[in-house]
Amino acid sequence: MRFTKLRLTGFKSFVDPTDLVIANGLTGVVGPNGCGKSNLLEALRWVMGETRAKAMRGGGMEDVIFAGAATRPARNFAEVALTIDNADRLAPAGFNDSDQLEITRRITRDVGSAYKVNAKDTRARDVQMLFADAATGATSPALVRQGQIMELISAKPKNRRKVLEDAAGIGGLYARRHEAELK
Ligand code: ATP
Ligand code: MG
Repeated sequence: MRFTKLRLTGFKSFVDPTDLVIANGLTGVVGPNGCGKSNLLEALRWVMGETRAKAMRGGGMEDVIFAGAATRPARNFAEVALTIDNADRLAPAGFNDSDQLEITRRITRDVGSAYKVNAKDTRARDVQMLFADAATGATSPALVRQGQIMELISAKPKNRRKVLEDAAGIGGLYARRHEAELK
């Protein structure tokens, strides 16, 4: 499984549809302060099912929707689509019947978030599980926010253990156990 493309529409500062092609190897994003580098990483985390507005540097989840600028009116929705190359068919069970996966999340003002996988409506929980099983996701230690290294150094042992567990790829198991206990 490999991320190949991220498409942002009305997400934070990316008001017009913008494609970020994620080629093999290392991708660097450079630009002046405030040009949207961190917003790109947040888009990636958001489409994988981030539910904490604070992790998105917002007061509420709708703050990810383009809020308007001097020359552009605000938008009513934000959408992020993540394309995954699944030619190796290593996606978790239930998502493994095609060579390419497109995960889409859209948030509409006063309506909330909706997810799709290959154009089919999908529960937030299942999208989160898909990424947790693949040892990545919104809370993955593979995504390091600005300032997060300092937070980790001063974190409580319990929170630091969570980072190790996610790195070991057992986050998905915890999520499944939690879901099983709720049933
Ligand atoms: P730095 O180099 O300082 O880390 P950066 O490239 O990471 O900067 P970001 O933090 O990604 O920049 O982008 C911040 C910009 O995004 C700001 O100009 C802010 O106004 C804009 N922005 C954030 N949310 C929204 C929104 N909902 N609508 C419009 N613009 C937004
Ligand atoms: Mg930044």
